[in-house]
Amino acid sequence: MLTNLKDLDPQELEQFIIALGEMSYRSRQISKWIFNRYAESFSDMTDLSIGLRDKLCSFSTIENSLNLDSRMDSSDGTSKYLFKLFDGNKIESVLIPDGKRNTLCISTQVGCAMGCTFCLTARIGKIRNLSTSEIIDQFLIVNKINNHSITNIVYMGMGEPLDNLDNTVRSLKLLTSKDCVGLSPKRVTVSTSGLVPKIKELGNRITINLSVSLNAPYNEMRSQIMPVNKAYPIKVLLEQCRKFPLPNRKLLTFEYVLIGEFNDSDNDAIRLAELLRGINCKINLIPFNEAQPIDFKAPKDNKVISFQKILWSYGLNARVRKSRGRDILGACGQLAARYPLENQKRKFIN
Ligand code: SAH
Ligand code: SF4
Repeated sequence: MLTNLKDLDPQELEQFIIALGEMSYRSRQISKWIFNRYAESFSDMTDLSIGLRDKLCSFSTIENSLNLDSRMDSSDGTSKYLFKLFDGNKIESVLIPDGKRNTLCISTQVGCAMGCTFCLTARIGKIRNLSTSEIIDQFLIVNKINNHSITNIVYMGMGEPLDNLDNTVRSLKLLTSKDCVGLSPKRVTVSTSGLVPKIKELGNRITINLSVSLNAPYNEMRSQIMPVNKAYPIKVLLEQCRKFPLPNRKLLTFEYVLIGEFNDSDNDAIRLAELLRGINCKINLIPFNEAQPIDFKAPKDNKVISFQKILWSYGLNARVRKSRGRDILGACGQLAARYPLENQKRKFIN
């Protein structure tokens, strides 16, 4: 089998090149061709000798690991890209323009194993992890289509990035390494449902922004919607968060999905503020995006406002995240890549 060079992080590529009997600096030349100049074949790499290009052809490939299947454009400027993988599986990425920022939201798994009850991706279940090249190609393909205009990346698409930690870290190295894509780590954010030991490992392996999906201020409430809380309850999670090494001058982010009449009361806001007091962080409030067949409801607008005001009154930095791309099922929690969902299937059979 040929090695896809986009499955290797910069150190691994160097080892690969040395094993071919070449000088290590060649790996940096090759990375530049792939991630800066978007070469499509080894024959594009004109500053490498023909001998090296032949060797690369015999042992490796830089082919795309994804095929763009379709693109949907929202009335608010957001676009969703549906990709087909080599084995027929499908994933989605979402591009969200916002002023000077152009943020790409990428997937790390086909489906997700975490079982959060409010999230459509959970209904697919986990089908498999994405390879490093499948993660990084989402960026390379969408960036090329959009004239190299992507400024920020969030790992908030389908899947739990820390349940695919090795390939997540490899792809983060490719995005942030100077010889590869070269984005500042300040512009790349990994979001997690709270796999505590993996948060620790991530921090040991790379410096990157972290966003934690908290979503409830009480263990009982959080366990009801996020089964991961039974293994890693709030206190343990927050202890680990406090220790996470962030890029300079960056704050930890907590995501809080506001679900109507479930976790959106004034008391919930007060409890959340008390929990987060003393942690240097910002809070993103995400009004729940409704998606069939999930039964939860969006919060009322006045609830969202009073929730935010309570957090402010405790001196917390809280903002409401505008939902983008709802009309194309591209908003948070709506990604299902046209997989049949269990409840819909059941309805169909009945
Ligand atoms: N698995 C990771 C990243 C993907 S989910 C995580 O859970 O953090 C990205 C964000 O979408 C999470 O903060 C999650 O809580 C939120 N989310 C999931 N379903 C949602 C929905 N229906 N409405 C609004 N936000 C949702
Ligand atoms: Fe997975 Fe995140 Fe959805 Fe939970 S919210 S099921 S962790 S994608």
